[in-house]
Amino acid sequence: MAVGADAPGGSAGPRILEAMPEESDARLQPTQFAYDEVGRALVITWGDDAVQRIGFAGLRLACPCAVCSGEFGRPGRFAVDPELHPGEDELADISLVGMYGLNAVWADGHNTGIYTFELLRRLGEA
Ligand SMILES: [Zn+2]
Repeated sequence: MAVGADAPGGSAGPRILEAMPEESDARLQPTQFAYDEVGRALVITWGDDAVQRIGFAGLRLACPCAVCSGEFGRPGRFAVDPELHPGEDELADISLVGMYGLNAVWADGHNTGIYTFELLRRLGEA
């Protein structure tokens, strides 16, 4: 077995890889989801200590599901009628989807939107 010159100590066996999250990962790792009921906003705290507020209306308008954002050339719900109807911007519940996203349930019953953390971070910075 050949040991390269870049292996000081010459220890055999698999290389040790550092798996510390980089700063860019902390930016996309939420540590808390909360609500501002008066301001009607989702409040997200991120791994880099940034705190972002996303208004319910803006969150609903950005729903990435096929119905809202369209698919296969069909326009999405808000492309046809950009007006929010009662309940559509009333956040009823949220839950985590794996380690990558957030599912939102709205008061009108709509619950197919999964917001990736990347999308949420972008919405919070908008
Ligand atoms: Zn949707």
